[in-house]
Amino acid sequence: MRLVSALRAIVGDDGILVRDEELFVYEADGLTLHRGRPVAVVLPRDKTEVQRIVRSCREHEVPFVPRGAGTGLSGGATAIEGGVIIELQRMNRIVRVDENDRFAIVQPGVVNADLSKAVAHLDLFYAPDPSSQQACTIGGNVAENSGGPHTLKYGTTTNHILGLELVTPDGECLQLGSEAGGTNGYDLVGTVVGSEGTLGIVTEVTVRLTPVPETVATMLGIFDGVVEACRAVGAVIGAGLVPAAMEIVDQRTINAVEDSRYAAGLPRDAGAILIVEADGSSASVARQVERIREFAEASGARDFQVARDEAERVRFWRARKGAFGAMGRLAPDLYVHDAVVPRKKLPEILAAVCEIGDRHGLKLSNVFHAGDGNLHPNISFDRRDAEEMERVIAAGEEILRICVEAGGVITGEHGVGTEKRDYMRLLFSEADLDAMMKLRLAFDPERVCNPGKIFPTTRFCAESNPKARGYDEVPIS
Ligand SMILES: Cc1cc2nc3c(=O)[nH]c(=O)nc-3n(C[C@H](O)[C@H](O)[C@H](O)COP(=O)(O)OP(=O)(O)OC[C@H]3O[C@@H](n4cnc5c(N)ncnc54)[C@H](O)[C@@H]3O)c2cc1C
Repeated sequence: MRLVSALRAIVGDDGILVRDEELFVYEADGLTLHRGRPVAVVLPRDKTEVQRIVRSCREHEVPFVPRGAGTGLSGGATAIEGGVIIELQRMNRIVRVDENDRFAIVQPGVVNADLSKAVAHLDLFYAPDPSSQQACTIGGNVAENSGGPHTLKYGTTTNHILGLELVTPDGECLQLGSEAGGTNGYDLVGTVVGSEGTLGIVTEVTVRLTPVPETVATMLGIFDGVVEACRAVGAVIGAGLVPAAMEIVDQRTINAVEDSRYAAGLPRDAGAILIVEADGSSASVARQVERIREFAEASGARDFQVARDEAERVRFWRARKGAFGAMGRLAPDLYVHDAVVPRKKLPEILAAVCEIGDRHGLKLSNVFHAGDGNLHPNISFDRRDAEEMERVIAAGEEILRICVEAGGVITGEHGVGTEKRDYMRLLFSEADLDAMMKLRLAFDPERVCNPGKIFPTTRFCAESNPKARGYDEVPIS
């Protein structure tokens, strides 16, 4: 194939994968429900190679898909329409760290956790901390506008990006934003963050670094039920406190964790645990801890502990951070949902989510960023069982609908990708979607860069609303 020869000439023999067994690995990202096989995977080493790859794909009229570590959970890095995957993992250098102005310039393949480790000696860290941070890349975080447990206080990725270098779908290279921060003219940095790889390929990122807080206190509340734990979250937020993190783990997850290598000595009979972290000055943290304890106990906590040392703090977090891995013990496949609801509605929505799981006879568990109202109902299943698959999809759709009806949105941090593209109409009108598509087409008029993501498909339109437009067809004018 001429395209493969052209790509090989750009990246060399060790920079391209074309064999069946190699491509199999790239058929899906963390969402194993949706699959698509690329014709090739290329691994560029620098921006110039990315530009040449993009131009070559265009010349051969083949679409391309940027990819980081492939930990995404919405199908964003899957070549759903075939084409070439451009994997950025070899572009993994920290180019420069400016300690005084507190920023770093990094290549997109830098692993999230590695950045904080690299600047720890300067008492700085990179705040966005997805639970996948040991594997996921800064480029993927930018594309998904990723969050994490500490989003509650520190915000999502968009709050930490000062500048971007972007190779556009026609192979040009744009410098967006600056080390100084601030926006002149249109905020194109904000536009690219969260665009799920549909506006171009990020080849360099200028990130804000944050001073390590003076003190951190990590608390563990034990509750009889997830609804009581949600009430405690509502009480803390309602009182105007802003902890760094508030995370809930339910009973099914606790037991999966305790059965796994992440076992943290948690009580298996607890209905839920609530992990709260407060950081800042010693005086302010001490005050926060006492108030959070009061709210937790008033909401029904049967036990409340404060980590006495770093080892205990790590133990508290182990249940949360190891939760997804531990769920491999429940079933071969895991569907991690992601939706946001107003925090005051958490107790009723959680009760409804559990009812939906039970009614469909599914193994549903909850581990989520409670402080942000960001739910992750997780369904453990076996995709070889077609009948169970139907129930998984039906339950997922019901969950999304009740979240939107409660005033929420269909994704908090995992993105729309292929997973939720057909649910975009739950939130957006045709006019809203047309405006978004016009923005996409301004960067990528021929829709060659990560096609098939974010926008609803014809299939769904025909089923639900014959008059609605399917965005997988020719570009709108
Ligand atoms: C166990 C587990 C826990 C998770 N926890 C969280 C969490 O707490 N918070 C959270 O937000 N997410 C979480 N995720 C989801 C996922 O890790 C994030 O979305 C992450 O940002 C994806 O990074 P990645 O490098 O794996 O990107 P990929 O999955 O490879 O790609 C994700 C998207 O980014 C695009 N992309 C990748 N690199 C570039 C680039 N250089 N330029 C342009 N587009 C690019 C891709 O096309 C795709 O659309 C979790 C996933 C797992 C498996």
